[in-house]
Amino acid sequence: MVTARSSLNERSETKRAEAMSSAASRARAVASAVKDPEVPVLTIEDLGVLRDVRADADRVTVTITPTYSGCPAMDVIRDDLVLALSAAGFADVEVRLTLSPAWTTDWMTDAGKQKLSEYGIAPPTGRAALGPIKLSLGVKCPRCGSLDTREVSRFGSTSCKALYECRSCLEPFDHFKVH
Ligand SMILES: [Zn+2]
Repeated sequence: MVTARSSLNERSETKRAEAMSSAASRARAVASAVKDPEVPVLTIEDLGVLRDVRADADRVTVTITPTYSGCPAMDVIRDDLVLALSAAGFADVEVRLTLSPAWTTDWMTDAGKQKLSEYGIAPPTGRAALGPIKLSLGVKCPRCGSLDTREVSRFGSTSCKALYECRSCLEPFDHFKVH
C-alpha cells in the first residue's frame, strides 16, 4: 500500500510540475510577443526589456526593466502585458519593474537590431558596457548603408532616438541611441 501511495504522489507531483512548466512557457510566449509601442516591429523581448516570467497555474509575475526611467512607453507595455496575459487565461497578472541593473542597449537582441534597421531606424552601435569612454562608431544609414552620416539633433521622434542625416542619400533617419 505504501508503495502504491508513494507512486501516486509522485505521479500527481509530476503532473503538477508539468502543468506549472507549461503555464510558464505559455506565459513566456505571450509576454515576449508584446510589442514596443514606440517601434512596433520590436517585441519587448527584442528590446531586452523582458527580464523574467514566472507562472503558477493562472498566476503570472512578469519582470521588466524600463529602457530608461520615465520612458512613457513603459506604462503602455505594462498595460499591454496585463491585457495579453489576461486574454490568454491568466487571472492574476503582476508586472514588476526592476531598475537595477539598468537597461542598456547591449540587451537588445541581434534579431531586434536587424528588425530596427529594416524598419528604417539605425540600431545602437558599439557597446554601452565599455564605461564612460564611449566608442564613437559610425552610424550606418538604414536606407543606403553609408557610414557618411551626421547627427542633426540629439532628440529624434522620441527621446530614445537621435535624428541623423545621411550625406550619401540625403535622407534623415532616427538612430536608437546607445545608453
Ligand atoms: Zn543613406
